[in-house]
Amino acid sequence: AKNSGRNNIKRFDPNMKFVTYDRLVMESDIQSAIDQEQFYMVYQPKFHAADGRITGVEALIRWNHPREMLISPGDFIPVAEQAGLISSVDEWVLREVCRQIQVWARHGLEIPVSVNISQIHFQQFDFGDRLRRTIEQYGVKAGLIDIEITETALMQHATEAHVFAKLQELGDIGVTVSIDDFGIGHSSLNLLRKFPVDFLKIDQSFVQDHQKPDIVTAIIQLGHSLCMRVVAEGVESQVELDFLTAQGCDEIQGYLLARPMAPEDIVRTYA
Ligand code: C2E
Ligand code: CA
Ligand code: CA
Ligand code: CA
Repeated sequence: AKNSGRNNIKRFDPNMKFVTYDRLVMESDIQSAIDQEQFYMVYQPKFHAADGRITGVEALIRWNHPREMLISPGDFIPVAEQAGLISSVDEWVLREVCRQIQVWARHGLEIPVSVNISQIHFQQFDFGDRLRRTIEQYGVKAGLIDIEITETALMQHATEAHVFAKLQELGDIGVTVSIDDFGIGHSSLNLLRKFPVDFLKIDQSFVQDHQKPDIVTAIIQLGHSLCMRVVAEGVESQVELDFLTAQGCDEIQGYLLARPMAPEDIVRTYA
């Protein structure tokens, strides 16, 4: 669904009718959704390409909306960003993920969780401080948190020194960093070389575009030459999995292997 105008979010409802949702109404709904506990998280596993073992999960937000039924984060996250609400959402997500990590720990499951952080939240000067405090407050091992930032967000940052300092700060806290949606953001290779980043996630548009396998191969080689691990997302077919594995891609995420699922199902399946 695309934003069709200034104030309406046009999208398909489950009956495949176009419906509109007034932007201002959505903004106030997002605000109350946090207080009324309408958000919840699902978790999509990632796996070692080589042996199929689970390597971690990505936390993805869902909105149990009282009136509008299914609204995907692809629709409401941009509205939250424009309305200045995204930091509240991202902080709720971080707390929820920390809480979940401790619940899983009690079930004998210790698993790294990747959290999507909006560019706007990442750019705030005290993002690192608040992240550190949340991790400490919940007593979570920092190494179990992976911060996903899109390539576009990194490259749009004010200055190179600024991004570098920010990434350094995350490294000091002990979390890992993934560059999300890699390949569409026109990174400067020179910058990328200097950034302390752990994972590159190949954007799913490249994974699914079988006409341009060279791009996928090039990204995997680039990531490895920078000592990063490379993750492919949106892997939907065996053909894609086989190709990625043959090219040396390290980790695989996608509907072929596992869909986003409730935290109880993560325990049931992987503990
Ligand atoms: P993303 O970070 O690139 O997440 C990947 C999206 O692809 C997810 O959609 C996931 O459910 C979907 N996906 C996973 N495997 C496959 C597959 O094999 N095929 C296809 N076609 N799709 C697959 P989702 O959950 O709807 O999230 C959409 C976007 O919303 C995310 O893109 C991310 O940018 C944003 N988002 C989701 N959760 C959060 C959150 O907690 N905080 C923030 N700030 N943004 C979030
Ligand atoms: Ca992501
Ligand atoms: Ca992505
Ligand atoms: Ca994306």
